[in-house]
Amino acid sequence: TKWVYSFGDGKADGTAEMRNLLGGKGANLAEMSNLGLPVPSGFTLTTDVCTAYLEQNETYPDTLDQQVGDAIAQIEQSVGGGFGNPEQPLLVSVRSGARASMPGMMDTVLNLGLNDETVAGLEKQSGDKRFAYDSYRRFIQMYSDVVLGVDHYHFEELLEILKEENGYFLDTDLQADDWEVLVGRYKSKVEEELGRPFPQNVQDQLWGAIGAVFGSWMNQRAITYRRLHEIPASWGTAVNVQAMVFGNMGDDSATGVAFTRDPSTGVKMFYGEFLVNAQGEDVVAGIRTPQNLTKQSRLDAGADALSMEEIFPEVYGQLVDVYKRLEAHYRDMQDIEFTVQQGKLWMLQTRSGKRTAKAALKIAIDMVDEGLIDKEEAIKRIDPASLDQLLHPTLDPTAERNIIARGLPASPGAASGEIVFDSDEAEKLASDGKSVILVRVETSPEDIHGMHAAKGILTSRGGMTSHAAVVARGMGRACVSGAGALNIDYKNQTLSVLGETYKKGDIITIDGGCGEVMLGSVEMIMPELSGEFGELMSWADEIRRMKVRTNAETPLDVKTARKFGAEGVGLCRTEHMFFDADRIIAVRQMILAEDLADRQEALAKLLPVQRADFVELFRIMAGLPVTIRLLDPPLHEFLPKTDAEIDSLAEALGADAGKLRHRALQLHEFNPMLGHRGCRLGISFPEIYEMQARAILEAAAEISKELGETVVPEIMIPLVATKRELEILKQKIEAVAEAVKDESGKSVDYLIGTMIELPRAALRAGDIAEEAEFFSFGTNDLTQTTYGISRDDSGSFLEDYVEQGIYEIDPFVSLDHEGVGELVEIAVKRGRETREDIKLGICGEHGGDPNSIDFCERIGLDYVSCSPYRVPIARLAAAQAAL
Ligand code: ADP
Ligand code: MG
Ligand code: MG
Repeated sequence: TKWVYSFGDGKADGTAEMRNLLGGKGANLAEMSNLGLPVPSGFTLTTDVCTAYLEQNETYPDTLDQQVGDAIAQIEQSVGGGFGNPEQPLLVSVRSGARASMPGMMDTVLNLGLNDETVAGLEKQSGDKRFAYDSYRRFIQMYSDVVLGVDHYHFEELLEILKEENGYFLDTDLQADDWEVLVGRYKSKVEEELGRPFPQNVQDQLWGAIGAVFGSWMNQRAITYRRLHEIPASWGTAVNVQAMVFGNMGDDSATGVAFTRDPSTGVKMFYGEFLVNAQGEDVVAGIRTPQNLTKQSRLDAGADALSMEEIFPEVYGQLVDVYKRLEAHYRDMQDIEFTVQQGKLWMLQTRSGKRTAKAALKIAIDMVDEGLIDKEEAIKRIDPASLDQLLHPTLDPTAERNIIARGLPASPGAASGEIVFDSDEAEKLASDGKSVILVRVETSPEDIHGMHAAKGILTSRGGMTSHAAVVARGMGRACVSGAGALNIDYKNQTLSVLGETYKKGDIITIDGGCGEVMLGSVEMIMPELSGEFGELMSWADEIRRMKVRTNAETPLDVKTARKFGAEGVGLCRTEHMFFDADRIIAVRQMILAEDLADRQEALAKLLPVQRADFVELFRIMAGLPVTIRLLDPPLHEFLPKTDAEIDSLAEALGADAGKLRHRALQLHEFNPMLGHRGCRLGISFPEIYEMQARAILEAAAEISKELGETVVPEIMIPLVATKRELEILKQKIEAVAEAVKDESGKSVDYLIGTMIELPRAALRAGDIAEEAEFFSFGTNDLTQTTYGISRDDSGSFLEDYVEQGIYEIDPFVSLDHEGVGELVEIAVKRGRETREDIKLGICGEHGGDPNSIDFCERIGLDYVSCSPYRVPIARLAAAQAAL
């Protein structure tokens, strides 16, 4: 088996397509080599090695040793020198790289191959002792931290002590001999901690680092990240071993990171940061403030430190050429890492850049305009769920802002919440329903869960490419980074700035679009739906086959959904219209009525109220279909519970409180979910459904007169299990329709259909369709009844089920294609067999879930219906499903 793939010198064993085997980093290093870009030579140990290593008790395949040896020899050939050669040492980096990029999850070791002998060779070779020992101390610190488990603070402490002894302020004040002294102290420290010396044998160093990368695949951070991003553990990681190039070789050397377009806004502008005379993660670590790449962004930021464009115009020019080639080649925005060694450019990484939803949208649309991709590709590239970020409010520009600090606009969006300094605590408070802003000096992979739980992230250190910024953009959290004026005191849990001190729990607001930090919460406004958003949506609308409706009943929700592009109402839940204070009394009277006369009295009060609601609904949705579900109340939600509620109801109705209490007890159900609800209520008390049908049809008649447009209400009977239920109720509604026609002198068209939400209904869809003119799949109840799980009670065990892989995902969130889905398919097939033109839609929560929408497309439903804020998501998901 080939376990090792080499790259460099304008060629490679692998390609970008081999990402599963080589990991993202390895595949792209190979691709860049093939493109002839300057990539330091190296090789990739495949993800198969990782899988084998973890499966076989942390041992390697037999032939690996030989293959690695050959590959090292190939690097030696390419760059000159030898691995462990004291005269002319070859140094390498050992870098992890999984299939999906996992920022910061795995640790990289740089300058590997240095020991007490080779450091002298490096000094001689470079003629620079300071550089040689600086590299050696970096190596000892990184290797000890990542591979040997000696925490890096030990080393930072020693560095601080040395600086203090000599009265130095900056790291750059240290002279060559100082670094040499420090190296000695570092080695003693390692020996003190481990009881054995720092490994001097370069082969031991190499295999130690390789093992650490594979081992880190199973560390807690990586496991958490995978869980959050649904990455299977079986993928494994690759390891890349690559000749070192040095950004710390003096003032004509540098290291940097760049995005080919702005990852926050998507603006087509080369963008990034770099540091002169620095190595590796210095830029991201936020220890020194990085400089801008382009002159323009330096001017925009008002920064003094010169840009790369100004300091190294020639190399900058090469870098621009490279980025243009990469973008054209990958046809996507790239996130690149590079190093300049004594005036020569080296490419160390490229990948598709993480971006905000806003940037993703702009980039996709621009790339269509630029002819790089077509509309279909643009549609495919946008994650529907990410649109959510664009639909939520931003700060009202006219609202007062009490600005207490400024930082970098690291990830756009606005957020208000309580100050929290600790990620565990952020997670806990968020799970209690609190909004929190995670405030840290800087973030690290240990903070992922806290960042996920927080509404926003604020750091006092780190640039636009710091851990906090990159991860926040990926997660769609607002983030302000590098607000240097903030003084964060973890011990006392305070934040002070400009002489004021704020405590944990104080409310602040951050605006990740402009970098402002404000005291208190600030007024927010609704998002703009035109521009790029509108454009992409219009493309999606051209492509999709299914219609998108909304589940809504209040005028505000229906209007919102309309604005988001809903093409009708798929589910108007009439019981939701009864919650308002002015009607609850009549509703309770209706429910608690002991006889028909009593009930009719209550219904007479409700009729005009319902009719007015429907008039308003039809007006907003003029010309579009509106499906109205007749009453399906969870009765217990409407019953008066406390004595005070019973007393006040009794008073309002002039009834006897004792009797009411008795009646309420009578109506108590042990399992209301499977109790006297839905059409069962209509069967027992037909006058309720008759009142509702009358309200709907009278409203329709009124609106058709008013607007001259026909409204076709779709009257939906819930929780039907048998054809006979539907038959009985349909006759009653038709009788009402006749009466309304006679009274109003206007005949309105309407449809009568049912919700398919019980397994029996799905199975008997063939005969139910004899009565029903449409089916709407109520997949919430259908999931409950198919699994036999009450959604309201599933919280106590669902997580265990998902964790143990019994459910891949919560079946209430994403439709279970196999089981519940099969019932839906059966119903579709049998329904159509009976009634060819039966209208079919879905109105469960799943109607807004992209994966479920894909299923709906495949089985040929006519429409999906979802909550108002998910309408744009559903429009895009429906287009993707149709591609
Ligand atoms: P990550 O996955 O965290 O981005 P990388 O493997 O890309 O980790 O390594 C981090 C940084 O280390 C790189 O951005 C680069 O600056 C530096 N680095 C890695 N390999 C080399 C190398 N061969 N020569 C010089 N610098 C390197
Ligand atoms: Mg890293
Ligand atoms: Mg990297």
